[in-house]
Amino acid sequence: MKTGQALVGGRWRDAAARFPVTDPATGETIAEVADCDGRLTVEAVDAAAAALPAWRAMPAHERAAIMRRAAELLAGRAGAIGAVMTAEQGKPLAEATGEVVAGADHLLWAAEETRRVYGETIPSTSTDTRIWLLPEPVGVVAAITPWNFPVSMITRKLGPALAAGCTVVLKPSELTPLSAVAVAECLTEAGFPPGVFNLVTTARPQEFAEAIMADPRVRKISFTGSTAVGKNLIRQSADDVKRLSVELGGHAPVLVFPDADVAAAAAGVARSKFMNAGQACTSPNRIYVHESVAAEFTDELVKLAEAITVGNGADPGVTMGPLIDDRALAKVRRHIEDALAHGARLATTRREGPGRLHPPTVLTGVTDEMLLCREETFGPVAPVLTFGDGESTEEVVARANATPYGLAAYLWTRDLARVVRVCEDLQFGIVSVNGAPLAPPQGPFGGVKGSGYGREGGHHGVEDFVEYKYVSVGLG
Ligand code: NAD
Repeated sequence: MKTGQALVGGRWRDAAARFPVTDPATGETIAEVADCDGRLTVEAVDAAAAALPAWRAMPAHERAAIMRRAAELLAGRAGAIGAVMTAEQGKPLAEATGEVVAGADHLLWAAEETRRVYGETIPSTSTDTRIWLLPEPVGVVAAITPWNFPVSMITRKLGPALAAGCTVVLKPSELTPLSAVAVAECLTEAGFPPGVFNLVTTARPQEFAEAIMADPRVRKISFTGSTAVGKNLIRQSADDVKRLSVELGGHAPVLVFPDADVAAAAAGVARSKFMNAGQACTSPNRIYVHESVAAEFTDELVKLAEAITVGNGADPGVTMGPLIDDRALAKVRRHIEDALAHGARLATTRREGPGRLHPPTVLTGVTDEMLLCREETFGPVAPVLTFGDGESTEEVVARANATPYGLAAYLWTRDLARVVRVCEDLQFGIVSVNGAPLAPPQGPFGGVKGSGYGREGGHHGVEDFVEYKYVSVGLG
């Protein structure tokens, strides 16, 4: 693997400096990676801008064929790339491998969509005019991705951008650059023309941001990460009026109504909560359970939490890995301590692991005012809150909506009318009903409110990288 190098204009390049990548399970340095400066970023934009005319002009089925090859290479190497991901990110090998397969699927879906980037003909008011909408790529895209899903966050941006005919400069998280290098190797081997895809690894994200913001050739920024950084990018992008998609933090509520399949709800919550050690933007942060089923639900959830084996994700049998860094661990602890100090109770037994291992934790007696109900925990803590017959469905939904975020929400009920009404009233970009998955490649994933704007996946995801040119034709 070209661990020390960036990919600029189809060539693997050295940077003047390197930065270390650590294994969160052991704290050991596992590689040193190119620490690209602003100048190398500009060279990557040069390459992307130079590659744009030919890439956008290439027939869609030819572009699709290259993207399909990349997806096949990625899926074919899922085991090896999964091992790299586990080493730098910590998630269990099975989860990491599954993510690479899912990441390849995003690329494959976008490859197929390449051939369906259609324009429109709009009926005109006169026999002597025609109105056409021509789809065009927005241009050079800068993509910035987080560490929690180091492959799928990349392919969810790359796929639609490339399908639309854009060229890309990718800056992955400095915590997980090796997975990005592995993706870049697949893309290079698949035969993308030089410059269509460029990889800039750097431990100086601010410098990268300054370089892309100052460059008028970068027409779109696609960002996934924290709300704080996303807000900065929104401000910075104003001067050059760049297009932006921002997938930011979340604070997902779960609503478990008394008519729900309680065991299935507990299993679904355990899956979405403890996956990736709770480090997901869609991770449940407030679990509202009707008091008549709260004891049954909590017992099930505790059983499932305690069946999880926490350890080094590379070890067989481990089903939950470490948190990404010490800051993440400190935040999880702070949220638990605050909740306990304000009257919550620990329902799981506490088995603090060594290093950054934190046990899956279930808290009961949680109230909306506690810190973990207001801030994104990003860790394996399941806070159970209750509601009773005295509260209407509207009031429970209002509690769920009372957050600045609006990414994902989960609903468990067998009542069809309630499904419809609650789905309509939830102020979130995505709602999962009775455990249905949230992020298949055909689904337009994204948030509202403080969780950002823009969609990834589905044809909406491709449209985020398309400008529709309105052509009004006079026939004379
Ligand atoms: P982060 O904001 O710290 O980093 C994300 C990316 O931004 C990284 O590549 C980082 O290097 C870069 N970055 C940091 N400072 C920057 C700056 N000043 N200018 C430009 N880029 C900068 O977030 P993170 O800790 O990597 O990821 C966790 C966050 O991401 C959580 O809040 C989570 O909810 C969110 N997230 C959202 C989604 C979604 O789809 N909505 C998906 C995954 C993660």
